[in-house]
Amino acid sequence: MKIKFPLVVIGAQWGDEGKGKIIDIFSQQADYVVRFNGGNNAGHTVVVDGEKFPLSLLPSGVLQEKHLCIAQGAVIEPSILLKEIDFFEKRGTKVKLTIDPRVHVVMPYHKELDRATEVWKGKKATGSLHLGIGYCYEDKNNRFGVRFEDLINPKLFKEKLEMFFPLKKRQIELVFGQKTNLTIEKIYKEYIDYGKKLKKYLGDVSLLIQNELNSHAELVSASDFTKNRSRNKFGMTNKNKKVLFEGAHGTFLDGVFGTYPYTTAVYTISGSVFPYVGISPRKIYSLGVVKAYTTRVGNGPFPTELFDKTGEEIRKNGGEFGTVSKRPRRCGWLDLCLLRTAKRLSGFDYIALTKLDVLSNLSSIKVCTHYLIGSRKYQEVPSLMTEFSKCKPVLVEFKGWKKDISQVNKFQDLPGEAKIYIKFIEKKLQVPIYYIFVGPERSQTIYC
Ligand code: GDP
Ligand code: MG
Repeated sequence: MKIKFPLVVIGAQWGDEGKGKIIDIFSQQADYVVRFNGGNNAGHTVVVDGEKFPLSLLPSGVLQEKHLCIAQGAVIEPSILLKEIDFFEKRGTKVKLTIDPRVHVVMPYHKELDRATEVWKGKKATGSLHLGIGYCYEDKNNRFGVRFEDLINPKLFKEKLEMFFPLKKRQIELVFGQKTNLTIEKIYKEYIDYGKKLKKYLGDVSLLIQNELNSHAELVSASDFTKNRSRNKFGMTNKNKKVLFEGAHGTFLDGVFGTYPYTTAVYTISGSVFPYVGISPRKIYSLGVVKAYTTRVGNGPFPTELFDKTGEEIRKNGGEFGTVSKRPRRCGWLDLCLLRTAKRLSGFDYIALTKLDVLSNLSSIKVCTHYLIGSRKYQEVPSLMTEFSKCKPVLVEFKGWKKDISQVNKFQDLPGEAKIYIKFIEKKLQVPIYYIFVGPERSQTIYC
């Protein structure tokens, strides 16, 4: 079946659903791939011909040499971004990238503050990777941040550092009682150098994407219109460009609608694409990426979590260890309450069901249909987190298929038990499952 653009790809659970692979596949059809939220705490792995490409900042469309954008809702850690660019350029991949000047920059003091805070929180730590992302967003929202624009303006950058750093240093040393070796001079030298290297990627992503989506005829000037005969009478280009928006993280890591406070600092639901890129509202098709079971990294409630051998088996078979963190991911059964909520929040038009092969050697597979607290029934994730942590999953059991499905490429060829499992999910969610993944390679994909 054919997928429509513009398209936003959203993880329907707690992340690591396999968004990287699906974006890599769709990028073949897209003209632009836009990363619009999160920082280098979001890791994707794309596998091509057995070669693994772990990515944390560059959109997964890099392998297709598409025009990549980092929109204002994302934050960049320049050293990591430069390493990723360098990696791809060295292997002969052309990196065409535009970074919005409004993108915020993760500073070394954000990382130090992050670490200090987690130590201070002790047992209540959120499980942050100490990458400073949360602190970077805090400064962004508090208008105390460094934007990409500042990195390429030495005078302004120096002034900003002189204003920000003394306070950050006091926080690290006097509030948290930790030592820091950072100085204004050290930071300035390192970051101005990053600015020099990244300057060539500067561009207004909001304007670029808005223009390509063809909605604001006024943005195209009259002189452009007469110069360019391919534009119609409204000054629009005749052919819409295909834009793919790559959501980082999963729905339940959303800073508001996720399992707060065990979340990221940003919105991860589909509607956030409008302010995070800087485009006006319109229909954007939404694809939910659903892993055939559930995983999560870090702390927080997880009603269908497995603590037994089955959980270990899923972790082992699914390689459920963080791309960035290498931490073992918590594993459990598929949870329809999570998926109903994710569908409602992001308006899924299509679903990609991933990692189905991981369940292949289980003799029985369970799915949570709803939660109970006492006799009270919940179809969705409750809005009160105090309730969510008390929810008991009600599970239905399916017979496993106990067959290797990793080479299957047609729905008809799947074992009957697998078809029943897939049809059940589709029926419960009332969203068509368009893609089924049976392995990490591009070729291990069933197009339904
Ligand atoms: P993302 O953050 O949503 O992009 O997902 P990650 O890349 O963090 O995690 C997904 C992992 O599963 C990656 O290592 C993928 O290569 C791998 N993967 C993706 N789809 C499948 C699949 O259908 N089967 C298996 N076995 N692995 C998959
Ligand atoms: Mg990931």
